Amino acid sequence: APDNTTVPDEVRARHAELCRELDDHSYRYYLGNPIVSDAEYDQLMQELRDTEDEYPILITQDSPTQKVGAPISVDFAEVEHLVRMESLGNAFNTDELNAWADRASAEVPVSAYLCELKIDGLAVDLVYERGRLIRAATRGDGRVGEDITLNVRTIAVVPEQLDESVRPAPELLEVRGEVFLPVEDFEKLNQRITADGSHAPFANPRNAAAGSLRQKDPRVTATRPLSMIVHGVGAYTPAAQGGEDVAFTSQSQAYTLLGEWGLPLSDRYRVVATMDEVREYVAHYQAHRHDPAYEIDGIVTKVDDFALQRRLGSTSRAPRWAIAYKYPPEEVTTTLVDIKVGV
Ligand code: NAD
Repeated sequence: APDNTTVPDEVRARHAELCRELDDHSYRYYLGNPIVSDAEYDQLMQELRDTEDEYPILITQDSPTQKVGAPISVDFAEVEHLVRMESLGNAFNTDELNAWADRASAEVPVSAYLCELKIDGLAVDLVYERGRLIRAATRGDGRVGEDITLNVRTIAVVPEQLDESVRPAPELLEVRGEVFLPVEDFEKLNQRITADGSHAPFANPRNAAAGSLRQKDPRVTATRPLSMIVHGVGAYTPAAQGGEDVAFTSQSQAYTLLGEWGLPLSDRYRVVATMDEVREYVAHYQAHRHDPAYEIDGIVTKVDDFALQRRLGSTSRAPRWAIAYKYPPEEVTTTLVDIKVGV
């Protein structure tokens, strides 16, 4: 192994350049204006990871391999998340997916996996106090996000008030999910903005969703038919009085409760017992990638049981109890070349 303390100058320089480039790409991506494809971004990230594997002394807290998301912009007020928002580890093939499952199973006895679609949108955090939506924020760097409450209030499926017909709303509930623009609505939006000249067409639904959500004027956001699907829980304090105190015990049980409170859930998630079934789910949606009304870029598999999730814990940027299986990119290179030329 090379002597960790003597990193060749050219490696050090390339490492610094990769960090700079990746930070810049992240920033543009979160604004909805990326200039490279996700595959190109992932390749640069892999090069950075390989470099840091070889020279661990280059790893700092500030490296893109160690942190979540992008810097906060000055356009919105900062909000601190109650519980940190994370990214996801990636698997690009079955071997990497199996390796994740083997690592998890070596530490805890996993008897159920929850599989769901990886929606290609933006992570948003919602906070409900005694059933009322009080704040919505972007993921930001995972610790601090941007206050986009007014914009999120324009999303039809996001309840202002939790439904209490089944059980009282919790004292405090922080949920995370993906905000996205359905493909059909994206196409209509592009036709409309091209026709009335109000905006250049968006390259894909994700960029359109990012641009729409980060509007400074919520009246503009209101004209964009954004939707949301919830896929995680942050802070939680059960109802103070009057109700049965329900605890969240698993991802799937939490989804049932969130659904009863009227939060938007996917009906495509499955709880399965074996990795064979996880692989079947991955293969099914690889072949039926365009069945959902929104774009997906992979499958997320989570250890279902919350006690096991806690035991598995997280790295600096992603939970060990979940993995994203990324499908190969479908982007058209010529479009991206055009975008690059335009910048
Ligand atoms: P990620 O997108 O790979 O995964 C984490 C995110 O997945 C979560 O924050 C969440 O919002 C989302 N997600 C969707 N469905 C989910 C579900 N069912 N359960 C849980 N989470 C779900 O990681 P990231 O850190 O957000 O971004 C990194 C990726 O973004 C890169 O791999 C690259 O593809 C892309 N990216 C592209 C550029 C670019 O310039 N093209 C720049 C930065 C990032």
